Amino acid sequence: MGLRPNLLTRRTAGVASTTLALLLSTAAVGVVPAASAFSAAPSGSCAEPADSHSNARVAKGGHAKLDPNELTAKQVRDREADLAAALRERANFRAGAAATPLATVTIPVVVHVIQRDSTRAGGNIPDSMVTQQISVLNTAYSGGTGGAATAFSFQLTKVHHVTNAAWYPIVEGSSAERQMKSSLREGGKNTLNLYLGELSDDLLGWATFPQRKLNSMDGVVALSESLPGGTATNYNQGDTGTHEVGHWLNLYHTFQGGCSGSGDSVSDTPAEASPAFECPTGRDTCTATGKDPITNFMDYTYDSCMYQFTAGQASRMLTAWNAYRAA
Ligand SMILES: [Zn+2]
Repeated sequence: MGLRPNLLTRRTAGVASTTLALLLSTAAVGVVPAASAFSAAPSGSCAEPADSHSNARVAKGGHAKLDPNELTAKQVRDREADLAAALRERANFRAGAAATPLATVTIPVVVHVIQRDSTRAGGNIPDSMVTQQISVLNTAYSGGTGGAATAFSFQLTKVHHVTNAAWYPIVEGSSAERQMKSSLREGGKNTLNLYLGELSDDLLGWATFPQRKLNSMDGVVALSESLPGGTATNYNQGDTGTHEVGHWLNLYHTFQGGCSGSGDSVSDTPAEASPAFECPTGRDTCTATGKDPITNFMDYTYDSCMYQFTAGQASRMLTAWNAYRAA
């Protein structure tokens, strides 16, 4: 997965996903390839700390090297230092204001459906898919699929259909992505802006980590056909959304850092040398205790295979919320 930050791509082995991948590749022809687009991003993006990079989800296939959501060790160190600094700031603020950290959080969600035209092939998914995606998030983050309950619930406040061929597909790291987000983003740091559409480079999605100062790039991008009932075979139960929102709430991949060091900065996710794809049995890539956390939402397995966050991840997300996104 190289040095790119957190991306999730689609596996291209299945017939249906191969078709989709081909469609994607065709759509991307004539558009700046993601790698070039990334390096050519406006200086504002490169001048900011690692958290300005987005976190993507990729499927197994030939495109993983373009995954934008994976972090280098230095980027992780910088982010952890920033989190500590943000927490110190908040603690000082709270000491004066006698405020208490939040224990439960309802996140307003603004959804932007990016379309080329009014057809389904042109990105016009039904609103029912969006409401089902919100249900998937609420079930996952409440522990309803078998993992730890987190503090978070999600409330859909708006579905905004936007027809603009210049933003379709959404090309990760491009000036068009920047323009799209600066035109459409709504709300404060606590508002989740979810952009749906066809994506560049067979990606399933990407997200930004929280930052102390709100940036118009803040938000989650997901393949519209990854929503429940979509056409992205093996990735159409809505867990791309679950995974990307995890990044938006400050989670790293379970395979961050491999077998050594602090890994994903969460103590109860066993270390994992590399991403797991599909749904492997008994995978154990590090000598440290515990098999690979292939059922964790922050790995790269099939939607049907991932169903949990850990208590440590829930705690990390809430800590980050109170540091970065709480009012
Ligand atoms: Zn990711």
